[in-house]
Amino acid sequence: MAIDIHTRAVQPPQMDWPQNSAVPPLYQTAAYTYKSLEQVDRIFQGTDDGYTYTRAGNPTTRAFADLIASLEEGEQGAIAASGMGAILVAVLALEESPGPLLMAREIYGGSLGLVRRVLEPLGYRLVWVDTHAPEACLGIMRENPGGVLILESISNPLGRVCALDTLIESAHRSGVKVIVDNTFATPYHVRPLRFGADLVVHSVTKFIAGHSDLILGAIVGKADIMKTVDSLINLMGVTPDPYAAWLGMRGARTLALRMERASDNAMTLATVLKDHPALAQVNYPGLTRHPDYNVAKRILNGGFGAIFGLSLKGGRTAAEEVIRRLTIVPFVPSLGDVMTTISHPQVASHRELTQAEQERVAIDPGVLRVSVGIENVRDLIEDFTNALSGLVLG
Ligand code: PLP
Repeated sequence: MAIDIHTRAVQPPQMDWPQNSAVPPLYQTAAYTYKSLEQVDRIFQGTDDGYTYTRAGNPTTRAFADLIASLEEGEQGAIAASGMGAILVAVLALEESPGPLLMAREIYGGSLGLVRRVLEPLGYRLVWVDTHAPEACLGIMRENPGGVLILESISNPLGRVCALDTLIESAHRSGVKVIVDNTFATPYHVRPLRFGADLVVHSVTKFIAGHSDLILGAIVGKADIMKTVDSLINLMGVTPDPYAAWLGMRGARTLALRMERASDNAMTLATVLKDHPALAQVNYPGLTRHPDYNVAKRILNGGFGAIFGLSLKGGRTAAEEVIRRLTIVPFVPSLGDVMTTISHPQVASHRELTQAEQERVAIDPGVLRVSVGIENVRDLIEDFTNALSGLVLG
């Protein structure tokens, strides 16, 4: 019988830890010592287990990578110093020499910045795709064989959900590889490798670590490509600090429980707010009126995620007023904390997009993103209802 994700999450990888430590200890070391030159040779050649230098590998980081691989049901995992580092490594691992990078239109602004400001100058070519228009998307993929498609399983902030099953199949038939950024959905809701994704990446900073107290990324995939991933992490120096990996692993053990509660809270809160007169739209894929509700029901398990977008009729002025009035929900331009937070995509996560690119994915000055936490939902309902009451409607 397959072991449930709630059970897998709490079980830290078991290895022969010194002193029979029940959980992976923190190896806060840059280097390792050896008894002989032969031993060093064997470790470098891979005939002996061991570590040579923490930039290339560390037991604490390895344990965390194994835990994430188990959560994502992947053969192998790796931890990078940040989510951005993970995306860069994933792209370079799948597309070593410059070629087309197909990006979903809703992509996180940082990922776009990476492509535009780092990869395009190196010769990679940005190609926008609408992953919700299957025919047009297939056409673009057929025109760009050898390319890599980058998309998010649940998009930020409007909760668009990709039909990962059919999309990945079409990509592979067209000779395009697929990176799924699973930061928003987390393996609690979807494991994109099951649908054939070539690599899954995470900003571990968010839900996986869960406490807004560290920056980390992760990559999961098949063992052969992960060899390249490990080597790139080492050579580009996007290695995490072992302490951050240890903290991330501690947070990840409650991932399933946190996501279960947070997505329940999000569903309740989105349902309460959906017809509020101050709002033009509540964008949550768990609402039947959301354009991707049926896809989300097919692709996601255990709920619809912990994030939704609010479109305020009163535009930026109303958005600013809501931020000012909320008492238990702070404005934090990040997400995935145990605490509910609110952000403004136009000034924060999506500021890298041009106005036209923002408009294309319905990000306007009146859009707020809510990352729902694990509080008592009654308190959240009260805070949001008070903050939205009597707003100028624009
Ligand atoms: N992917 C998504 C969907 C994100 O929201 C973010 C950060 O906000 C990143 C990647 C980048 O992750 P990090 O901030 O850990 O580098």
